Amino acid sequence: MNVDVAKNLQQVVGNLPEGVSLVAISKFHPKEYLEAAYAVGQRIFGESHEQELSKKVAELPKDIEWHFIGHLQTNKVKYIAPYISMIDAVDSFKLLKEINKQAAKHDRVINVLLELHIAKEETKYGFTPDACREMLKEGQWRELNHVHISGLMMMASNVDDESQIRKEMMEAANFFDEVKRDYFADDDRFCERSWGMSHDYQIAVECRSTMVRVGTAIFGPRVY
Ligand SMILES: *Cc1c(COP(=O)(O)O)cnc(C)c1O
Repeated sequence: MNVDVAKNLQQVVGNLPEGVSLVAISKFHPKEYLEAAYAVGQRIFGESHEQELSKKVAELPKDIEWHFIGHLQTNKVKYIAPYISMIDAVDSFKLLKEINKQAAKHDRVINVLLELHIAKEETKYGFTPDACREMLKEGQWRELNHVHISGLMMMASNVDDESQIRKEMMEAANFFDEVKRDYFADDDRFCERSWGMSHDYQIAVECRSTMVRVGTAIFGPRVY
């Protein structure tokens, strides 16, 4: 291993204020890298490919909380439903319904975040704020007893312009407040704001992130 995972991890953790959790994004990294992070206390890991995730789940300690962080195809939900702790990027009502259906089969409630599309980039998945409002207003999600909406997630535009990143993250934070007020005022567990990756997590914590998703700054560059 030519990356000092333990040192990098401790550095990132040291930069996080109390109450902000770290999802260590380990996609494309071998299990030795995850073990090095685990050895210094990391328990939450995020992966974005079902097969890679399932393999790691089988090989690594059972007290790890696994997050699915990428775009999830509905036909893959059944494979991760038995064990996944959180699905971080729910980007359609169809996916939410499928997660509910598969979670029910295992008598589980799966925590999810709704992914917002706020960045200006065309290719990003997620609900626009208007689409998200519409889905929540429509109300069918209330009948899905095997999913729990725990908060919102977003990725800011991949740009150097810090003010642009900040603007998008604050838009997400303000939208969180709106949704909290209108739909989740009585639900203390609707509390997560997941934004911030390696290049922008320090901005994210200033923009009220509660859950950063950091890969490269811990594990080094991914080899695809
Ligand atoms: C890969 C990925 C990350 C981590 O990105 P880094 O730049 O390596 O920190 C965070 N969130 C999502 C959704 C990702 O797909």
